[in-house]
Amino acid sequence: MLLIEQISTALQNPKRILTGDDQAERKRHALSLRTRVIESRRFYANEDVSRSAARLGLDNPDILMGMLRNARLPFEKVWIEWHNRAHIEETGDDVADDAPEKIGAFIQRIDEDKPIYRMNICGMDGKGYGVAESPLSYIWNAYEPIEDILAIPDTKFICDLMKPVWDEITPSSEVMPERMIRISCLGSAYSRALRGLTSNTVDLSGEENEPDYGVADHYIEQTNQFSNHFTIVLNPALRKWLRNATNHLELRKYIARDLIESAGTVRYVVSLLAMINQGDYISREPSVRPSHKRMMGNRLVPYLDHWTVTMKVPRKIAEQKIRHAYAERASTEMPRQEIIGHWKQRHNTGDPNCEHVFVPKTHNHEHCALCGRFRWHVKEYMRGNAEIGFVTKDRLLVEAK
Ligand SMILES: [Zn+2]
Repeated sequence: MLLIEQISTALQNPKRILTGDDQAERKRHALSLRTRVIESRRFYANEDVSRSAARLGLDNPDILMGMLRNARLPFEKVWIEWHNRAHIEETGDDVADDAPEKIGAFIQRIDEDKPIYRMNICGMDGKGYGVAESPLSYIWNAYEPIEDILAIPDTKFICDLMKPVWDEITPSSEVMPERMIRISCLGSAYSRALRGLTSNTVDLSGEENEPDYGVADHYIEQTNQFSNHFTIVLNPALRKWLRNATNHLELRKYIARDLIESAGTVRYVVSLLAMINQGDYISREPSVRPSHKRMMGNRLVPYLDHWTVTMKVPRKIAEQKIRHAYAERASTEMPRQEIIGHWKQRHNTGDPNCEHVFVPKTHNHEHCALCGRFRWHVKEYMRGNAEIGFVTKDRLLVEAK
């Protein structure tokens, strides 16, 4: 059974709503959820897609940027559910015994002009009885960074509330609250993956004429740019309740737990959406609708149409193709400077069998977004090629820098 069907059934009984202090608050929340269940176009990512999204979502930041551009909603309001345990397994974390099989998110576009989206994570508790929706909403802009997130009242509220916790985690450092917000959007699995990516970078001692530059710097810079597209606010359906809470110690615990549990989910969902939008290798099959209503226990409930998202080709191949497509996207969307000369590759980096997609870092350094192969541009004067007289002007411009 789909998770959204389980949720929809549970919503008929306010006792099964796990948020809110009192009956009235739970009823309000149930109403908001019921409305969204009906209004959203519903998607179910099968296990293969759930796993690949996890792997692609931990890929290098060039590919993440490529996916972010494509992490747009096929409809204004969408519900998407995926295999949570499979997702956790792929990130290399232990799967807790009570981790729910599936998790989903309500996502909607919140700006008429810009591709800005808000996401809310929702699921059933481990016993499959209660409905829990995250008190936090994740927001991203697919095209531009979100500047000055502390000017957003909800983000500021979360930062002020969480400050004592964050001060405890990083006592001596000067980690800014906005950094903590952005890091929560990336998640700890991504921090681990990034450490892996940046420690595998090249040893700079080998060849002559090598620039003093590592792929690591590029990855860290790209990761920061990627995370600047996100912020966290309060779930609008619960905002009033959260804002009016008088016991801030309890509220802080509640939000802290949710931040830990949901950290990185928005990055994962970006990867899922990018896959759903990848029509070449991914298919979206509409469900067959037997009737407008169906029996659930002894009740008649509306039948929930949905799309099942599957792969058209074997998983490994789909993953490889999609990585390639997004790496290419990242490479073509960055300005490339034309300099006459030639590229020199560092052959002890990356994968020799890769069809490289080089992404520029500066005017004369590039690396492959797929395997990390590193190459740099050798200017004419460096190899003493006097024949190409017309590059003089270019060369002067480059040298003047
Ligand atoms: Zn490559």
